[in-house]
Amino acid sequence: MKTNYFEKIVSHVATILNSGIDEFSPFDTRKNVLRLNLFLGFCVSITSLGMVFHVINELLISAFVNLCGTMVLILAFYMNRDGKHEKAKWIAITAINLHQFCLSYVEGIRSGQYLLVFPLLLALIFVIDLKNNLNELIMTSVMTLLSTAFIFILAPFVNPLQGIATATYSGLFASNLAIALLLTTIFAYIILKTMDRHEDKILDEKKLTDTIYDTALDAVFIVDVSDLMIMDCNKRALHVFGHKEKNTLIHQPVQHLLGQPMLEHIRNLNSTEFTQRAPWYGNMDFERAQDELFYAYVNIVPFHHQNKQYCKISILDITEIKVAEFEIIKAKERAEKAAKVKARFLSNMSHELRTPLNAIIGTSNILLQEEYLPSQKESFNVLQHSSEHMLQLVNDILDLSKLEAGKMELEKIPFNLKDFMNKVMASFSKGRNPDIKFEVNIDPQLDIEIISDETRLLQILNNLISNAWKFTKKGKITVTARAEKNENQQVSVYFSVADTGIGIPQAKIRQIFDSFTQADTETTRKYGGTGLGLAISKYLVNKMGGEINVNSEVDKGSCFCFTLNFNVNRKKSYVNEASLKQLNGLDGLRVLLAEDNPVNMMVAKRFLQKWNLQVDEAVNGLEAVELYNNNKYDLLLIDLEMPEMDGNEVTAYIRAKDQEIPIVAFTAAVYDDMQADLLKKGFTEFITKPFRPEDLHKKILQLTAYDQLQKYRYG
Ligand code: ADP
Repeated sequence: MKTNYFEKIVSHVATILNSGIDEFSPFDTRKNVLRLNLFLGFCVSITSLGMVFHVINELLISAFVNLCGTMVLILAFYMNRDGKHEKAKWIAITAINLHQFCLSYVEGIRSGQYLLVFPLLLALIFVIDLKNNLNELIMTSVMTLLSTAFIFILAPFVNPLQGIATATYSGLFASNLAIALLLTTIFAYIILKTMDRHEDKILDEKKLTDTIYDTALDAVFIVDVSDLMIMDCNKRALHVFGHKEKNTLIHQPVQHLLGQPMLEHIRNLNSTEFTQRAPWYGNMDFERAQDELFYAYVNIVPFHHQNKQYCKISILDITEIKVAEFEIIKAKERAEKAAKVKARFLSNMSHELRTPLNAIIGTSNILLQEEYLPSQKESFNVLQHSSEHMLQLVNDILDLSKLEAGKMELEKIPFNLKDFMNKVMASFSKGRNPDIKFEVNIDPQLDIEIISDETRLLQILNNLISNAWKFTKKGKITVTARAEKNENQQVSVYFSVADTGIGIPQAKIRQIFDSFTQADTETTRKYGGTGLGLAISKYLVNKMGGEINVNSEVDKGSCFCFTLNFNVNRKKSYVNEASLKQLNGLDGLRVLLAEDNPVNMMVAKRFLQKWNLQVDEAVNGLEAVELYNNNKYDLLLIDLEMPEMDGNEVTAYIRAKDQEIPIVAFTAAVYDDMQADLLKKGFTEFITKPFRPEDLHKKILQLTAYDQLQKYRYG
């Protein structure tokens, strides 16, 4: 019960002393309000006790002075509580001094009231925030000393006003002396304790900054800018620079340890106005004690301390990152080199394969068009199909490597979508398995000219349809092309190829789009193929902005579909598709054919002559130039790789004289950005060997029609 009572009193006193403290105000404000509360509480207790003491001793005037002092101090307490801290503080200081003066006056100097001046001064020092208010301390001290001086000047030694007996005076003096000593001791103790706590706090903070400084990941140096000497460093600096003792690093010139470039940086920083000095950041290299080089990220920050200028240098060892970066760059270079070698190898290989293939395909085409024995027909067909299959493989591998390297560029040429679909279907409907119904649904809305890459779209559909034929024994293959959205400038077309063939197991559906992957390991043996067609188709559909999807069930069939958006060409193209079909339109055109390979020359010439073109032959670049200089041609077919003068040199020579004449590059090589490269070199078009006769015919017709149009337009 008793403790409870005591606890209540303590908490009550604590509440009073904490009054006026706003927990959201800054720490210093809270501290000042609390200190004044403590001071006022203490003074009110002393003046109240003094009042009781004076009443007991029948010194009623003194008791009255005490009462007035107490009242004014309580008033100051309320002001402090209401946030008027400064006013309250000055009222308290004035009141205490006045109170001392009045008591000394009404009692006389003999009572020894002035002795309380010393603890008072100490108490006031406690109230004043010394760190920020030195002036206040001076003012308070002057005020207290003045009031003491006034006491000694104005107050009588003995005042008869209260008729104090000599014995009482002795008692008063003794008690004032005792109180003064006691209070001085108490205040001195409080002040020392506060200072101690303050020191502890500073030490704690230093410990914290030391810990941060020494455990930092970077080596930190402090340099005195005036003499460019290292003043201090952290523990990490010892580790980074391979030293054991701090003494070996500090008190030595910056350049000895950190090198001349660091000295220059500090000097540069120092040469600018201090207020404008921004920290310097950058990469530098340093040497460890063991002559070992290391790379670092460095930060130099200038700062002022006690009127001197310093620099803080932070050095973060990034050697491992640099080495890794270097390795990555090297690995990237190696990979790029390997990719170049691969591209070069593929280009060379294609060239090497295409040249004999050109001869085989060309010769079998010629043989098929000439007289042959009926028993030879099958052999010729096998020869033609196998060589075309081989060409397809070479092309697929090249396409895939180009697509994987992201180097494939799509053409943007207008063509009629319905005609295109009809052509695709026509090439699949003849001579196939009669047990399979081949159904084609072409939306009549697709009789429009779209702008896209006809060859690549054909490649996708060819892959899907030939797979459908390959993996279907009986039933039906349905090809659909349907306009989903047909607006003025854009058309969205849904393509699908569905079959009733062997289907694909669910687990394999994802893998079939990977290159060189087939659903079944038996597939190659049973159906042939390389597993490249779908990988290429997927890449191409993606490149055209669509996504290829497949639905399939084993033994029921598969359906491959995708949707593409095309821009619609509403302008009429100047090359009339119908005129392209008139193969006799080439009559009388004069062509220069430059080709060093006799078989290729023979094949190309046979076709050109079949179409009634007049052909002049050149077996190297020099001959080509000579023929060109002495004759007039409608078109030049120039092989790229020839002795004496290659195709590029011949074209450069001719272009210097004639900008208009169509020059077709005749090439077996296929490389990245070939079209752009050849156009830059002056060629109008290119045709890859081995060529399809209809492709060559189409190109010649296009170019000479174009040429005629130009002549017609510009005379
Ligand atoms: P390839 O046909 O040369 O093997 P593709 O990339 O075109 O290569 O096809 C990969 C595999 O996907 C094929 O080997 C086959 O297992 C499966 N596949 C593709 N189309 C069909 C289809 N219409 N029906 C059944 N399986 C198919």
